Amino acid sequence: MNAPVISLDNVTVTYNRHPAVHHVSGSLARGSLTAIAGPNGAGKSTLLRAIMGELKPAEGAIRRALPSRDYGYLPQAADINRRFPVSVIDTVVTGAWKRAGAFGGIGRAERQKASEALAAVGLEGFETRPIGSLSAGQFQRTLFARLLLQDASVIILDEPFTAIDSRTTQDLIDIVLHWHDEGRTVVAVLHDHEQVRTHFPQTLLIARELIGWGATEDVMTKHNLSRARALAERWDENAPVCEVTS
Ligand code: ADP
Ligand code: MG
Repeated sequence: MNAPVISLDNVTVTYNRHPAVHHVSGSLARGSLTAIAGPNGAGKSTLLRAIMGELKPAEGAIRRALPSRDYGYLPQAADINRRFPVSVIDTVVTGAWKRAGAFGGIGRAERQKASEALAAVGLEGFETRPIGSLSAGQFQRTLFARLLLQDASVIILDEPFTAIDSRTTQDLIDIVLHWHDEGRTVVAVLHDHEQVRTHFPQTLLIARELIGWGATEDVMTKHNLSRARALAERWDENAPVCEVTS
């Protein structure tokens, strides 16, 4: 029943042979709600990109138990181009592509669903607005509407609440909790330890290597957090390359 939807076996991910994620093992149970925490440059985004298949591990293996359309992914805001002259509704409708295929017929029904998704994130009437005209919070709501339309059973969010107003953050946290109630698996990179402790039963704490992965109260200890900080302070971007052994 709680079979893993994602399993990591000794995963190392490198950029130019420098490890950004080092020897990480563990799994995400179906239906779990997990925060990913760690200092800047800890490899959080790298880990998510590897899970989504955008980066190939230099060592180890990542197993996804479900077909790729079941994984919904929201990249870090900085990585999303908002300059495209597209409307809010067209952005949301692309969420259906993963299910229908880009040419799989997105018609009236999908547009109707997209409008409903917009209403669910508090953006009723925003259909024709260009995405470039939205505030950061409104744009993030749009991307959540797109995830709603995709209807993925595993949802992976990279810093969904960074640089977002507190009202939007609260609304989007409610959506995340609703997804969890529906039995979906949700993983989110978060910086706010209070949010992690309040809402996320599981935590993965990383500082390139895994510091802890399990129940939030066991992982987010003073000891683990200071260990993560200490590791981050010691990082040397020019450290010798990892010797990958197989
Ligand atoms: P986090 O999301 O935890 O802040 P990242 O996964 O973005 O960390 O980055 C981990 C490390 O990998 C950092 O040292 C970062 O500079 C480096 N890095 C990230 N992306 C790239 C890239 N495309 N090319 C080279 N190095 C990168
Ligand atoms: Mg990141």
